[in-house]
Amino acid sequence: MGEVNVILPENSYQIDIGKNLDDKVRAYFKGAGFSSRALVVTDSNVGRLYENAVEALLRSAGLAAETYRIPPGERSKCLAEAEKIYTRAIANGLDRKSVICALGGGVVGDLAGFVAATYMRGIPYVQMPTSLLAQVDSSVGGKVAVNHPSGKNLIGAFYQPKRVFIDLAFLSTLPPREICTGLGEIVKYGAIYDEAFFAYLEKNGPAILALESQALEHIVTRSVEIKADVVRQDERENGLRRILNFGHTIGHAIEKETQYVRYNHGEAVAIGMAGAAFISRALGLIDDTIVDRLLHLMETLHLPIKAKGCTADAMYKDIFHDKKTVDGQVNWVLLDALGHVTVRRDVPEEIVRDAMARIIE
Ligand code: ADP
Ligand code: ZN
Repeated sequence: MGEVNVILPENSYQIDIGKNLDDKVRAYFKGAGFSSRALVVTDSNVGRLYENAVEALLRSAGLAAETYRIPPGERSKCLAEAEKIYTRAIANGLDRKSVICALGGGVVGDLAGFVAATYMRGIPYVQMPTSLLAQVDSSVGGKVAVNHPSGKNLIGAFYQPKRVFIDLAFLSTLPPREICTGLGEIVKYGAIYDEAFFAYLEKNGPAILALESQALEHIVTRSVEIKADVVRQDERENGLRRILNFGHTIGHAIEKETQYVRYNHGEAVAIGMAGAAFISRALGLIDDTIVDRLLHLMETLHLPIKAKGCTADAMYKDIFHDKKTVDGQVNWVLLDALGHVTVRRDVPEEIVRDAMARIIE
């Protein structure tokens, strides 16, 4: 069983990783000092499978826990849904010391975290991420948000959870494509931060795809460690945290051009990482071997490296509307070694367009 600590100037917290964490969860809630009424927020897919068990677990820790279910999917990450949760929290008598538990994927985590950050100016929340993507990405780092009709995550805050419990047992029911989207971010951590981890992923493709316990525990723990390490150094995304955006500039353009339907997030990021690798090579930062290793690893893990239904022109325009583009300056996160990145602003248009042409099918 793994344990990662996110050390911050204020609001540090612990992340537990392992299979069947019930005893740890119970002990934590017993001793945390929350007031008695607790709200579990989940979606109907996850709720059907796990809400009874989690409610029972929290009750066994002495909390009067009830569950609020949202419809699954990104469209639930909105102010209207947040308002329904506030209403339920008020009706259930949640006070300033009550805890909200996010039981679900990234949608549930971001939305429940947003509600926790704002209800009564902020109440404690605990993350129990159930998707691989949420376990390695959105449950760590304290970004909470809802979408606005004109863009994703436009309304939000930095708000750290009190604790994160990453129970790998949840992954047994996750659909294969949702595993894939998590693997996209996991490859990213190896590529930007840790060559040895990248090599581990290269060696253990079949074990990872088969969700073998040891492999799963290693890749989730290492990913969380890397993310925690980056967040610790740059909680509010003023600098280093940008490196986590590797593959995302082009990835976001691909998601937009395919109406957020054809590719899920991790798949779009995988294609975006291929694009960023081509740009890195064109600038002479890396050679063919590194590009080939990245492309090959993504193929081994069943991740796409080319996008259908996109044009270079449309994608090129999109990158200037990305949320992370400031004053028309794209911060390109590029590989300068395997396991290391550099941020560049001066990438010539022809090089970007050429890379985009290479990732279009
Ligand atoms: P993310 O990929 O950011 O975690 P979602 O929160 O939308 O995005 O989760 C992806 C999908 O997987 C949703 O339909 C959700 O209901 C479902 N899901 C999440 N965790 C599990 C699980 N452990 N078992 C089955 N389905 C799950
Ligand atoms: Zn991402």
